[in-house]
Amino acid sequence: MAAFDDSAFDDHERVIFCRDAATGLKAIIAIHSTALGPAAGGCRLWEYASDDAALHDVLRLSQGMSYKNAMAGLEFGGGKAVILKTADFRASDALFERFGDCVDELNGRYITAEDVGMTVNIMQTIARRTRYVSGLPKKAGMAGGDPSPITAFGVFTGIEAAVRFRLSRESVSGLTVAVQGVGNVGYNLCRYLADAGAKLVVADMDPSRVATVCREFGAVSVGLDEILFQKVDVVSPCALGAIINEQSIPRLQTTIVAGAANNQLETRADGQRLMDSGILYAPDYVINGGGIVNVACEYHGQGNDETVMQLVAAIGPRLTRIFEQAQATGRPTNLIADEQARKIIAAAKHG
Ligand code: NAD
Repeated sequence: MAAFDDSAFDDHERVIFCRDAATGLKAIIAIHSTALGPAAGGCRLWEYASDDAALHDVLRLSQGMSYKNAMAGLEFGGGKAVILKTADFRASDALFERFGDCVDELNGRYITAEDVGMTVNIMQTIARRTRYVSGLPKKAGMAGGDPSPITAFGVFTGIEAAVRFRLSRESVSGLTVAVQGVGNVGYNLCRYLADAGAKLVVADMDPSRVATVCREFGAVSVGLDEILFQKVDVVSPCALGAIINEQSIPRLQTTIVAGAANNQLETRADGQRLMDSGILYAPDYVINGGGIVNVACEYHGQGNDETVMQLVAAIGPRLTRIFEQAQATGRPTNLIADEQARKIIAAAKHG
């Protein structure tokens, strides 16, 4: 494994390989930066094609968390973990406890939480061995719990900001939004959009989820291969990464791309391609930062849902500043956001 040569290495502070033969645990913890505070980012449980693929994924996600946390104004650095679902993987309390030990040994340099494949129950198991964990069951009157509805609220405020900037419209009322993926975030986003008078076009691999949003919000369902290419005002990717690329961009018939999915652009150059096509892109780690704000408030035991919503409402104005700078400099929004994030991290490093 050539960690230092991986294109996503980007001067990671630490990469820790965790192995426990007794439980079968194979995990990697990547700490990109602690300049702003402890490296915070979830743990993904995933079946990778190879160990190299797992390493690449964790490095990429960890760097993304540095940028996301910096742009959300949090005193958190960026980190991420992956537990490898190998052929002989068997989920057990003992395995997750061993992972908790590995997190604990880092003495707070890394704080874990849920990501794909993990649950609140697993987090509780990990929490038996370490206090450096978030995403635990919500305590009454406090911030915490499932971050998805908060993430959806942040995405909604981001779509409103994009609509104001690109279409000179004060609200989404009467506009059509195509939502790819109506899972935890997508469903809640549909609720916000429908309440504000938007028309919805949706697609999901899970027909029952599609049926729910069609019934509850009057959404129209289209095929999985068609959702991105609808003639709509906004395309909102809320499922997968890397769906905006050289092949899909020429087929888009929207003016705005703004959704919750992580790593929507396959490559950085796709930001330029979107701009050249006259499509405004809301950088993913800025618009989907609501969840991590919720996690941060929970971890620090600060505030309640109302406090979190107030902090998350800042996502709209933050995006507007990125859009304005992109327009003023003629450069794509994703590069403006990357630059701003790196500047915040560098200032903390040298400050
Ligand atoms: P989820 O698993 O609840 O929902 C994802 C949905 O996408 C599922 O219903 C799934 O069936 C559907 N899907 C998968 N492949 C699809 C395809 N090809 N076409 C259409 N639908 C497809 O996940 P979520 O928590 O709602 O997260 C959605 C996205 O937002 C993910 O990329 C996630 O990383 C990102 N995100 C989530 C949060 C959060 O708070 N949950 C925060 C930040 C970013």
